[in-house]
Amino acid sequence: MRIDIISVVPELLESPLGHSIVARAVKKGLAEIHVHNLRDHGKGPRQQVDDYSYGGDAGMVLMVEPVYKMIEGLKAERRYDEIIYMSPDGEIFDQGTANELSLMENIIILCGHYKGIDQRIREHLITREISVGDYVLSGGEIPAAMVTDAIIRLLPGALTDETSALSDSFQDGLLSAPIYTRPAEFNGWKVPDVLLSGNPKLIREWQDEQALERTRRLRPDLLKTQEDPKL
Ligand code: SAH
Repeated sequence: MRIDIISVVPELLESPLGHSIVARAVKKGLAEIHVHNLRDHGKGPRQQVDDYSYGGDAGMVLMVEPVYKMIEGLKAERRYDEIIYMSPDGEIFDQGTANELSLMENIIILCGHYKGIDQRIREHLITREISVGDYVLSGGEIPAAMVTDAIIRLLPGALTDETSALSDSFQDGLLSAPIYTRPAEFNGWKVPDVLLSGNPKLIREWQDEQALERTRRLRPDLLKTQEDPKL
């Protein structure tokens, strides 16, 4: 798949997308990520991309024209499944949305900055608005990196052990079971005996029980959305 990210501070995306699982997936050719500097379509010698808001509110607003030129330029090259604006008032991002987006061919993610973006961009160019939670960040870059990371790790081949994405929290509507690694005992703190038993059936049952118990205790809201005969 291909993800095009539009930003006024592209440097903010370099580190989160330049290492670890995301960078490896790109290197393997599973995904292309292109970060575009909105200033490339800025106005005048100073490559202006923002201006004061009508109505006099404090804070600069990203202008329509540079965003229009950038998005139309990309759309002329290929068809996009979704043109997403990262926004605190968008639909809340979750694993279901990550799954859905990971099946797409091409998406654009527009990062706002400062006070936000001209409303006409949202009305005429954007197809979907996504929030990473009910709080306000300085820009859409960190949210865009979060969404990109969550999508990329779902692409087949991105994780070395493919089943590991399936046992992550939320993937089956439950939180993940606790995990441990060597040594079996540290400081008197022990790994549960069942995990050392070598019996895959018992281990699986324990993990399922733990996942259900932790979800019930920590996130009962997740269970309300599915029918669970054990409840
Ligand atoms: N004035 C806006 C907030 C602007 S914050 C408002 O009150 O809604 C600047 C930019 O950061 C936004 O344009 C958006 O792209 C990004 N942003 C901030 N918080 C976000 C969140 N919770 N989820 C997604 N993007 C966010």
